[in-house]
Formats: sequence, structure tokens, C-alpha cells
Amino acid sequence: MNHRQRHLLFTPGPLTTRESVRRAMMVDLGSREEAFLEVVKAVRSGLLEVAGTKPGAGFEAVPVQGSGTFAIEAALGSLIPADARLLVPVNGAYGRRIALIAERLGIQTEIMENGETSPLDCRALQTRLAATPGITHIAAVHCETSTGMLNPVAEIGRLARDSGARFLVDAMSSFGGIPIELEASGIDALVSSANKCLEGVPGLAFAIVRRTVLEHSEGVARSVSLDLFDQWKTLEETGQFRFTPPTHVILALRQALSELATEGGVPARAGRYLGLQRRLVSGTRDLGLREVLPADLQSPIITAFHSPKDSRFSFPTFHRLLAERNLIIYPGKLADTPGFRIGTIGALDSGDIDRLLAGIRETLEELRVPLPLES
Ligand SMILES: *Cc1c(COP(=O)(O)O)cnc(C)c1O
Repeated sequence: MNHRQRHLLFTPGPLTTRESVRRAMMVDLGSREEAFLEVVKAVRSGLLEVAGTKPGAGFEAVPVQGSGTFAIEAALGSLIPADARLLVPVNGAYGRRIALIAERLGIQTEIMENGETSPLDCRALQTRLAATPGITHIAAVHCETSTGMLNPVAEIGRLARDSGARFLVDAMSSFGGIPIELEASGIDALVSSANKCLEGVPGLAFAIVRRTVLEHSEGVARSVSLDLFDQWKTLEETGQFRFTPPTHVILALRQALSELATEGGVPARAGRYLGLQRRLVSGTRDLGLREVLPADLQSPIITAFHSPKDSRFSFPTFHRLLAERNLIIYPGKLADTPGFRIGTIGALDSGDIDRLLAGIRETLEELRVPLPLES
């Protein structure tokens, strides 16, 4: 396939993948056969390596079938006991989703609303912790994908540790693309999925959990299929999943993890994403588009833009005209600001960003929106 025909996904996942990753799926393996169990083992240790640790060093990688949300639900439901009290700092849709899941699970949940475009207020969090005795767990999002904001997990982790609370992190859209230190950030459990910065295909998520926390979670889970403890025990004892694993997805993930290592690991990938995001924003500024976040709060993962004010602009048409050029962008996810989002993760290079920028220019011209846009 040449570049003109390739579908380029500028989304937060599923993403543009390498052909080698898609090719890795072209074999049917029995889920109980040794050949597949080897793949599962390699993937579990590969995930620990991306997390900056290794097998036997205090953390366990527990894969969960399904999309990322399934692993969030598995982690909250398996690691937070019935008598616990959870605090969730919220600055976007994904923080709200954590709280929604926790409440549905019957977990006593406190929400700390922060607003969507200002940085997460750690002093307010500290005050809230001091004023609310009995908080046993904190759960927060690393990269809040609804705006692209990077939250200060190391600082939140320190506050959690100081107050004796366990710390769970939704690192869905950052794991593999932004370095994260489990110990230094006081993280007890981190959740992500195969199809974001790891550049695999969708269908598998995972939790990376402090071993001592996992060991004490027997019988906590509110669900059979989403029981992290049972999933882990069975994998440890038999090497097998309890229920049908997405064999092809796991083959693709093994290939994707090896491509990540070849690229130079997380720091190299983070550097590529940052270069793509800077190139994007420099081009969109030339067109007069405005980002939602100030540059110092912006992650290299995904950028939220305000919709142009011109009445000839319509997002559905803009989206469709770009999609006709095989350029896929995402709608906005802010509660009260119309806009759209452009992801800069996945198997993309600077030429792909230039193709997108050219497509955006052509599309705005087709919509007869005068350029550069007025801010
Ligand atoms: C993508 C994403 C999720 C949800 O993942 P699904 O795979 O759609 O279930 C959760 N949290 C964050 C921060 C995300 O970016």
C-alpha cells in the first residue's frame, strides 16, 4: 500500500499501525498450545520492561481481554475492597469515567472537580486529603485524553503515599509514549491497553500491579471475568488465560513491543511523538487554528483545538472531507467548548503530519473559510 492509500489515524486509538504488526496476526494459534503460551509470557515481561521494571522485581503484568475500560473496571473492582474510600481528581471525561465505574461498583467515591483546562491542583488535593480522613485509594488519569493534558502523577503519588492511600493510574493514552516511573511516582497499579502508544491493535488491555497489592486482593473482585487476582493466579500457575484470549491481538502486541524496543524504547518514542506534535501545532497555527490548552500543559499525545468561529465551518463536514482523503481526526470531548482533537501517536512520521496539514488546508478552502482563520 502506498502512502496515498494508507488510512492515517490521528486519533487517540485505535491508531495507525505498522504493516509488520498487522502481519504478525496472520497465523491461527491454539490458545492452550505451548507456542502461544510463550507469546503470552514474552508480552507480559515486555510490558514490565516498558514500565521500567522486570519480572520478579515487585510488579506483575496482568492482561485483560477487551478495551482499556475493561482493565480500568477490573483494577478498580479487584483492588479496592468493600470498606475502602476512593478519591478521584477529575479534569476531563476519563477522570469522570473512573468515578462512574467506581460508583457503579458500589465503591464509596469522592470526586474532586478541577475544571478541564487548568492544571490539576495538587495543593487542593492535599487539603482535601487532610480534610477527609479515611481515604484509602486515589485514582487519577495520567494523560487526560479529552484535552491532551498531562497530570502530575508523581506529585499525586507522593500525596497518596504521605496519606497512606494506594494509588491507581489510568495511563491508557501515555503508557509507552511518555516515560513513567512506578516507584518514584508511588504507583500501586497502572492500567493501559495494546492499541495506544504501544501501537498494537485493539482487543487487549492490562494492569501492572504491585505484587504485594495483588497478593492481598483475593476475593475482592465484584466480577468473575474481570477478576485480576484470579486472572493473575491462573496465568502464573498454568501460563493460560482463564477464558478465550484474543490470540491474534496478542501476537500483534508481541511484534509491537519488539518494534518499540527497536525504535529505542519509550524515550525515543516520546521524542518522535513530541516532534510530530510540534510540527502539527506549528502548521495549524499558520492556518490560524487555536489550541485549547496552553503549551506548558500540552502533552505530545493529542491536541485539542477550538473550532473556527466562521459560520461556514461545520465539524461533521470537515471530518467527512478529511476522511475522504483517508485522514481521520477526532471530535472534541470538552463539556462546553466546540472543537476537535488531533492525535500524534501511532506509526506516523513527519510526512504524515504534512499530509494532514495539507488536507486540513484544502478542506477549509473547500468549506470557503477564509485563511488564515481569525482568532
Ligand atoms: C482511550 C482511553 C480510555 C478508554 O479506552 P477504551 O479502549 O476506549 O476502553 C481510558 N482512559 C484514557 C485516558 C484513554 O485515553
